[in-house]
Amino acid sequence: MTNAHQITESQIWKWLDDVKDPEIPTVSLVELGVVDAVAIEENGTVRIKLVPTFAGCFAASYMAMEAKARLEAEGLKNVVVELDKLTPWGSERITPSGREKLLAFGISPPGEALCPHCLSTNVEAVSDFGPTLCRVVRRCQDCLETFEQFKTL
Ligand SMILES: [Zn+2]
Repeated sequence: MTNAHQITESQIWKWLDDVKDPEIPTVSLVELGVVDAVAIEENGTVRIKLVPTFAGCFAASYMAMEAKARLEAEGLKNVVVELDKLTPWGSERITPSGREKLLAFGISPPGEALCPHCLSTNVEAVSDFGPTLCRVVRRCQDCLETFEQFKTL
């Protein structure tokens, strides 16, 4: 069993980086900027703060459960995951590696649309309603492929 006093916050960040988004299994909660804070308290309680993306986009409670389970798998017993619904999640919270992985998965990162097939920025809007609330549909004018873009918030 891992003693919470021997572990560091950076170790916890690494474990949380194993927890992937339920819809985009190559991108972690850390890379999406969903993990906002990690703290180890005096009594060994590990407190995690998650900032869920906007309502209906990701299953926030599912993410919280997965994050807790990941840490408990390391033997941590007192893990408290808080969902901070007051802090607004913004697409700027996605890390550079998160943006790269979105693109590799076939989804343009937020901001200027980038075709995941040919990396062209010559892109037109098709629909502001994607398969999920957090994505929109775009079409590349160069390779004519249609793709999804993570909505900019
Ligand atoms: Zn293209």
